[in-house]
Amino acid sequence: MQGQMMTLPLTLASLLEHAERYHGDTEIVSCTLEGPVHRYTYADAHRRARQAASALTRLGARPGSRVGTLAWNGFRHFELYYAISGTGAITHTVNPRLFPEQISWIIGDAADEVVCFDLSFASLVETIAKDCPSVKHWVAMTDRAHMPALQIANLLCYEELLAAESEHFSWPRLDEQSAATLCYTSGTTGNPKGVLYSHRATLLHTLSSSLPDALALSGRDVLAPVVPMFHVNAWGLPYSAPLVGAKLVFPGANLDGESIFKLFEREGVTFSAGVPTVWLSLQQYMRQHCVRLPALQRMVVGGAACPPALMRSFEQEFGIRLQHAWGMTELSPTGTVNTLKASQLPLDEEARFAIGVKQGRPPFGVELKTVDDEGNELPRDGKTAGALMVRGHWVIERYFGLEKSPLVDGWFPTGDVATLDADGFMQITDRAKDVIKSGGEWISSIDLENIAMSHPAVAEAAALGIAHPKWDERPLLVVALKPGQAVSRDEVLAHYPGKVARFCIPDDVVFIEALPHTATGKVSKVLLREHLRDYRWPAPQRPEVAS
Ligand code: AMP
Repeated sequence: MQGQMMTLPLTLASLLEHAERYHGDTEIVSCTLEGPVHRYTYADAHRRARQAASALTRLGARPGSRVGTLAWNGFRHFELYYAISGTGAITHTVNPRLFPEQISWIIGDAADEVVCFDLSFASLVETIAKDCPSVKHWVAMTDRAHMPALQIANLLCYEELLAAESEHFSWPRLDEQSAATLCYTSGTTGNPKGVLYSHRATLLHTLSSSLPDALALSGRDVLAPVVPMFHVNAWGLPYSAPLVGAKLVFPGANLDGESIFKLFEREGVTFSAGVPTVWLSLQQYMRQHCVRLPALQRMVVGGAACPPALMRSFEQEFGIRLQHAWGMTELSPTGTVNTLKASQLPLDEEARFAIGVKQGRPPFGVELKTVDDEGNELPRDGKTAGALMVRGHWVIERYFGLEKSPLVDGWFPTGDVATLDADGFMQITDRAKDVIKSGGEWISSIDLENIAMSHPAVAEAAALGIAHPKWDERPLLVVALKPGQAVSRDEVLAHYPGKVARFCIPDDVVFIEALPHTATGKVSKVLLREHLRDYRWPAPQRPEVAS
C-alpha cells in the first residue's frame, strides 16, 4: 500500500521561493568588484534569479545544458546558482584559481555553452576563449559602465541581459533526480573529474547539514560563506541560508584577514565557514591589532585538517569556536561535523577538546566505515586506522562522463585514512598517499604537522615521507615561520618528544618562506616535493630509531 501524502519534487528553486515568501526582507550583502557594498533582500534575489533564468533560456540554455561560472562569492553568483539549476540546466562552478589550460580543459569536458564571469577573470577569459569552442556566450557579471573591453566574440553584459527580462518567469517542475550542479575535483593526479549533483541529493544535503548537531543554522544567524562558491557549492551554504532564512554576507574577492575581519565586524556575522589557512590569517590580524568579533560564535573549518593549536587559540583568546568538519567534492561535501553528544558534556575541558579536534560524526544521510587492505571492516575503537569508506544520499555514484563507477561493494573509497570511535566520531590520520611509511610502521603526517603548528613561532608546517635507505621513508618537516620569528631546526624538533612515539619524530626540518597551496586551499605536497627534489638527508644519517 502506498502512502497518501503529497509528493513535491525536492528541487533547488523551492529554497529561494521559500526564502522570498517567509524571509523576503532579510538582507543579502555582497562586497563587489565594482567597489560599493551591495545590499538587497531575498525577495530581490528571487526576482532577479527569475529574470536571469529567462535570459539564459533566451540564450539557449535547456534542461541538461551546462552553464559555467567563474566567480567569487557575491549576489550575482548567488542568483545564477538558482537561475541556472532552476531552469533545469546545470550550474557548473569552475575554480578560477586553476591554471588557464586546466580551466579550458574543464570547460571543454563539461561542454559549457554559456560561461558567466566576474570582472577579476576578464583577462583569463580573453586568454582561454579560443580554447573553449563549446562556449557560445561569455557573460560579464557586471553593468554596462564596468564592461571590460575584451577581444572575444559573443561577449554579453549580465545587467543588460536581466534588464531586458520580466520577472514573470515560473520555475518548471523538474524531476528531482535531474542534475542541478557540476563541480570538478582538484585532481592531484590525472585530469580533474566532474561530480554531478542532483536536485534531490543537494536538497537532502541542505536539510541534513543545517541540523543542530551539524551546522546548526537558523534564521537568527548572519552567515558569511568564506569558502568559495566554486568549492563544492560553498559547502552548500548558498542553499542552507535560504532554507533557514539567515542573512547572507558574501565577501567577494578579498579573503585576507583584515578584509574578513572588517566585513564580519560591520555586518555582525555570527557564523562562517572556510579552510584553515583563511582562519589562520584572520587569527594573525586579530592578534596583531588586539581586536575581537563579539557577534561571531562559530566558524566551521574543513577542507584540510585544522591544527588543534588554531582551535585552542580562537576559543581561548577570542571566544570563537572553530568547529571541525570533514567532506569531499564527491560528498556534496558534508561527511561529518564535530558536535559533542550529551554524554560528553560533563567531561573536563581537555577531554572535550580531545574530541573537538576530531573531524566529527556524520549527520543523518551519511554512513562511514573503515576497512583494511582486504576490505574487512575494522573495529570502531578510536584507535585502529584504515581506509575510510562512505555511502549516503549525497555521495557520488559515478563521475561525470566516466563509465566505471568508483564504488566498492556500494561504498565510495574516500582515499582518506581514519579511525572511528564507538560514538561515531571520525578522525582523519592521513590522506592515503601522504601516510609516511617508516620501518613497517605508519606515521601520520597530520599529527606531525599539528605538533609543529602548536609551536608559537610556526605559521604552517607540512610533513613528507622522504625515501630513506634503511627505513623506506622517514618524516621530513617543512616549516614556514610567522613573520618576524626565528627558530632553529633543533628548537622545532625539541617540541616533539612526549607528544609522539620516538620513531615518529621528523629527522630533519627545512624552512621555507611560505608553503604552496592548491587551488582549493590545501597545502600542495606535490609542489613541495618538487621544491625539495634535490633534498638529501643530512650526514651523518639519523641514529637508529626504536620502531
Ligand atoms: P576536496 O574534494 O577538494 O574537498 O578534498 C577532499 C579531501 O580534503 C578529503 O578527502 C580530505 O583528505 C581533505 N579534508 C577535507 N576536510 C578535512 C578535514 N576536516 N580534516 C582533514 N582532511 C580534510
